Amino acid sequence: MSNRRGLLIILSSPSGAGKSTLSRRLMHWDPKVQFSVSATTRKPRAGEVDGKDYHFLSETRFKRDVAHGDMLEHAHVFGNFYGSPRAPVQEAIDRGQDVLFDIDWQGAQQIRNSALGAHTLSIFILPPSIAELHRRLETRGQDSAEVVAKRMQKSWDEISHWDGYDFVLINDDLDATEEKLRSIVTASRLRRSQQPGLTEHVRNLQTEFEARK
Ligand code: ADP
Ligand code: 5GP
Repeated sequence: MSNRRGLLIILSSPSGAGKSTLSRRLMHWDPKVQFSVSATTRKPRAGEVDGKDYHFLSETRFKRDVAHGDMLEHAHVFGNFYGSPRAPVQEAIDRGQDVLFDIDWQGAQQIRNSALGAHTLSIFILPPSIAELHRRLETRGQDSAEVVAKRMQKSWDEISHWDGYDFVLINDDLDATEEKLRSIVTASRLRRSQQPGLTEHVRNLQTEFEARK
């Protein structure tokens, strides 16, 4: 058994602010951090792999999983259903492994309010400006002008929930933001709630202390 419990690390941001980039960097820094592969009813984009980027499900299957309680959280985003399968998360954190979520504010809120809420670390990523957010969406080159416009329109809805998060990072310089993200994760792993062995350790210290009297 591990001497720590895993954290549920939630990264949210308006599309284009940099959460995928920061997620990749965090997992590169610590490969033991496990990515929570979401289920979705949207169609795969070119290059997306089923089971790696998302579990691509039919709406019927998605709704059945939700009804069975198999989703830790779920939401309707940009016209499609998204959800985080519960079982892999529970198994990872019981092993002492952190799980990283790239989910929207609705999912973050549901996880915070769930039985796993005490083990959650939520981080919101803000862009330095709206003009820069637009520039990043365009230079990423992944979406048509129409989709970029739709994402820009939705960005305020996501940004308006910034104040529900434990930490907020303004992703200006990427290296500096990554450094801050690592510091937040490192510190949060030391929360009392993440160290189940502490009570026993303190009991041992007490026994040793008493024996010296
Ligand atoms: P999201 O996952 O939030 O939609 P991405 O991680 O895909 O955003 O980032 C959007 C684009 O912005 C990508 O092309 C990425 O390389 C770039 N990007 C991310 N962070 C920064 C940064 N701090 N400075 C400049 N460009 C960035
Ligand atoms: P995309 O379709 O561009 O991959 O994702 C669209 C939005 O859905 C992003 O804001 C992303 O964070 C969010 N999202 C992805 N997976 C989940 C999930 O499992 N739950 C919730 N609540 N949101 C998700």
